[in-house]
Amino acid sequence: MITQVLPATPEALQMAAELLAKGELVAFPTETVYGLGAHALNRDAVPGIFAAKGRPADNPLIVHIWRREQLTDLCYVNPLAEKLMDAFWPGPLTIILPRKHTVPDTVTAGLDTVAVRLPSHPVAYELLKTCNLPIAAPSANRSGKPSPTAARHVYEDMQGRIPLIIDGGDCQVGVESTVVDCTGERVCILRPGGVTRQMLEEVAGPVTVAGSVLRPLQEGEKALSPGMRYQHYAPNGQVSLVEGEEQDVVAALKLLCRQAEENGHRACVMCFTEHVEMLQHCHPHDIGSKDCPEEVAHRLFDTLRRLDEENMDVIFSEVVPPEGVGLAVMNRLGRAAAFRAIEAGEVLASGRIR
Ligand code: AMP
Ligand code: MG
Repeated sequence: MITQVLPATPEALQMAAELLAKGELVAFPTETVYGLGAHALNRDAVPGIFAAKGRPADNPLIVHIWRREQLTDLCYVNPLAEKLMDAFWPGPLTIILPRKHTVPDTVTAGLDTVAVRLPSHPVAYELLKTCNLPIAAPSANRSGKPSPTAARHVYEDMQGRIPLIIDGGDCQVGVESTVVDCTGERVCILRPGGVTRQMLEEVAGPVTVAGSVLRPLQEGEKALSPGMRYQHYAPNGQVSLVEGEEQDVVAALKLLCRQAEENGHRACVMCFTEHVEMLQHCHPHDIGSKDCPEEVAHRLFDTLRRLDEENMDVIFSEVVPPEGVGLAVMNRLGRAAAFRAIEAGEVLASGRIR
């Protein structure tokens, strides 16, 4: 199959809408990451997403809409969810609600809930409006790879597997949507994203955060969001997080990188803009300013993909505080590193890698 990449003209969106109506797959930009869409109520179309991504069948999909009336076919809405929709839609918030049985089991992975989102990206909005169908769309990467934040990332992963990619430039947020469970009395964050805990609490009162957000699932622990079970966002090389006081971290990054190179590795660091110059001999990858977690979120997945392009096999990364959008960054970076963390002070004290 030939994969066309087209800019988001009205003609291209019309073509995309026709493909979707026929049950074909189309990748398109959203404000979070690129999505791989299929007609959510077409039982024959949805399995194509799992095949193209290599996604496990037990990981459910998010259904995208352009107006709330479409929810009537999908789920049962409650007052708490309405409050969140009023405050954060259109935008990077996915809401889990009790499903209706018009939604195929393949979309919900057999769960009795469905995930719904109304995106704010103008191209996503235009496409959803043009086809006027609910569109199931997970991130448009091959399963296990970092989510795509540019059309070229989608092409790398989906070339030959889907007929069309709509190119809408770089995604603004850069990490996937915040996923909240809204089936109980309290909002529970299953996956952190651009809509932060503080933002949710201002609207909906106390919010809980699923335990597995900043650590691996424990043995026997049930994943509230099935996607959290899988190793996500991982580049081919081994990523380690380096934590501690700023100056110690920079010194430890230098030491760790040099030692890894002496051991024959292709080593590099992921560091803040402010430290790039000090780390110029460590193949620095600039993840953005230490004072701007939004910038780090925006650049993270592109950086992780570059590490693979450059065949880096050992990577040491700075970390951001897990607050605000930083929680979403650390959720993704933690998984990229399989939660492997190194204390900078200890590295400097021992002068060797643990
Ligand atoms: P992706 O669109 O690839 O970012 O993945 C969608 C995420 O939403 C995955 O982590 C899913 O596990 C999660 N998700 C989708 N539907 C549900 C649901 N009904 N209950 C809990 N999590 C869900
Ligand atoms: Mg994904």
